[in-house]
Amino acid sequence: MAEKRDYYEVLGVPRDADEAALKKAYRTLAKKYHPDTNQGNPEAEAKFKEASEAYAVLSDPEKRRQYDQFGHAAFEGGAGGAGGFGGFDFGADMGDIFGDIFGDLFGGGRSRSRANNGPMKGANLRTSIRITFEEALFGCEKEIELTSRDECSQCHGTGAKPGTQPETCSKCGGKGQVVYTQQSMFGMVRNVQTCPDCGGTGKIIREKCPGCRGTGSVSTKKRIQVSIPAGIDDGQSIRVRGKGELGVNGGERGDLLVEVIVSAHPIFKRQDTSIFSTVPISFGTAAMGGEIRIKTVDGEVAYDVAPGTQTDTRIRLKGKGVPYLRNKNLRGDHYVTLVVKVPERLNKEQREALQKFREAMGEVPAEEIHEEKHKKKGFFK
Ligand SMILES: [Zn+2]
Ligand SMILES: [Zn+2]
Repeated sequence: MAEKRDYYEVLGVPRDADEAALKKAYRTLAKKYHPDTNQGNPEAEAKFKEASEAYAVLSDPEKRRQYDQFGHAAFEGGAGGAGGFGGFDFGADMGDIFGDIFGDLFGGGRSRSRANNGPMKGANLRTSIRITFEEALFGCEKEIELTSRDECSQCHGTGAKPGTQPETCSKCGGKGQVVYTQQSMFGMVRNVQTCPDCGGTGKIIREKCPGCRGTGSVSTKKRIQVSIPAGIDDGQSIRVRGKGELGVNGGERGDLLVEVIVSAHPIFKRQDTSIFSTVPISFGTAAMGGEIRIKTVDGEVAYDVAPGTQTDTRIRLKGKGVPYLRNKNLRGDHYVTLVVKVPERLNKEQREALQKFREAMGEVPAEEIHEEKHKKKGFFK
């Protein structure tokens, strides 16, 4: 038998690695070598098992303590009973770890294979919808078209030809699963597999229903009304209960999860419940003050600019922001950055007025000198 590698080495972590570091290292390896993504690759499978075993031991404080003290010997020679790898039952113990760690990695799909053929909730369906900035702010009603499976109306979901009944599967006795044990490098491994004869349903259909080819369900296109609440943000999802896939064996339907994609707005930017925009004001208004019109999501509002306002001054329009998702009566604020625009071209009248302004400010009337410089430059070119 090949020399067993050190568990810390397998995961590539230091001996004092904390729980988070172990989990992170294992997730990376598991993702890379997972059988679902490496089908028919025995080397990847071995690596996957090696990493899983290392993680199963090191993530359990008691087992880790034993391992740190005794090394691999801690789990050899009947410490835990019958199996050669007595430290843990690869089938049962790993199930918990998989459920925990693969929940988000593989969308929880693996847990389905462990269920028996009792009522099982249908799978969730996922879709996305694009809405405008304003629709996200104030909510809207949308219709989504999607395809999901419905119970076949001819056989009422049994899959058997009308007039006939499905029979209980003799291989699994109707349980939908078969259990067998196998000798492996870790000792005896107990494997639970979906029954190959009935495919996990526990039933055998002799004559298939022509309406659904024995599946008991038919694919149907439907339109579903979705209420999008005011205040929803880009990337958030709405759950529509009972609009997912058909349940199995009388289980309830799954849910429909609609991810909302909010289009960008040409003027407004949003962060949580705050709205941001930039409004240009003239040099004159900034200096002398005056009323301006500011666009908000509720329409235009008048605002009095104070005399002597500097560029990049930020003002707050209270309650003109985004409604709170969980409390429609509350709203965030709208922050406006006032940007003073310097005129790029001046006509004669404006130029003279500004020149007078500069003289009044006591600035050096540099106009002539400035123009002389320009002429000289032109000459040398
Ligand atoms: Zn049918
Ligand atoms: Zn069966």
